[in-house]
Amino acid sequence: MSQSAKTKQSNAAFSSLPLKKGLLDNLHTMNYQSMTSIQEQSLPLILAGEDVIGQAKTGSGKTAAYGLGLLNKLDVKRFRIQSLVLCPTRELADQVAKEIRTLARGIHNIKVLTLCGGVPMGPQIGSLEHGAHIIVGTPGRITDHLSRNRLDLSNVEMLILDEADRMLEMGFQDAVEAILAELPFTKQTLLFSATFPKQIKAMTKNIMHSPHHVTVKEVH
Ligand code: ADP
Ligand code: MG
Repeated sequence: MSQSAKTKQSNAAFSSLPLKKGLLDNLHTMNYQSMTSIQEQSLPLILAGEDVIGQAKTGSGKTAAYGLGLLNKLDVKRFRIQSLVLCPTRELADQVAKEIRTLARGIHNIKVLTLCGGVPMGPQIGSLEHGAHIIVGTPGRITDHLSRNRLDLSNVEMLILDEADRMLEMGFQDAVEAILAELPFTKQTLLFSATFPKQIKAMTKNIMHSPHHVTVKEVH
C-alpha cells in the first residue's frame, strides 16, 4: 500500500488554498493529490495566520500541514531564521526536514537546517554561521546553541511544536520554555500532539493566542 493510500484523504484539492505556485507544483510532483483530513481542517487557519492546536494520530499528514504553512509564509529574500520546528527526537527532526525540503524543492534557495543532539557541535555552529530560513531541531540542542549565543531566534515568525506530548514525556519542558523566552512575542504558533494532557493545556494557554483546536480522530 502506498503512503498516500494509508493516509486518509478528503476530496479537497490543495489548489483551493492560497498557496504559492511553486508549492502547488511540488505537491503535484510529490503526487499529493488531495488534502488529508488534518490538512483540510488546519491549513486554511494556518494560512490565515491563526494559532492552531492539531490533534491527530501518526500518519495523518501533519508535517505537510505545517510545512506548507511555514513555506507559504516565508520571505525567501530575507535570509533570517523565520521558522522554528521543535521535535522530540533526531529521527523525527530528520524526517521533518526532509519533507520540508521536498515541499520547497526548486523554490529559490530555501535553507533548512537541522539542529539535533548526537552529532558534534562544531559543524553545526559552522552551518549556523552560513545562515538558514528554517530550523528543525530538538529542544536540548537548540538550547545548547542559544546558551552559547550561536543562535538568533529574534526574527522567528512561526513556531511549530511537533509531537508536543512526546517532547514533554522526554523531559524537554524546561528546554522548550527556555526557547520560548527567546522568541518574539508576536508570532504564529502551531502545536501538534496525539494526546492533550494537562501540561500541554497549560502550555498552550501560556504561549498561544486564541488557538483553534482541530481534532481528527481516526486516520483510517
Ligand atoms: P504525521 O506527522 O501526522 O504522523 P506525516 O506528516 O509523517 O504524518 O505523513 C504521513 C505520510 O503521508 C507521509 O509519508 C507523507 O508523505 C504522506 N502524506 C502527507 N500528506 C499527504 C497527502 N496530502 N497526500 C498523499 N500523501 C500524503
Ligand atoms: Mg509527525
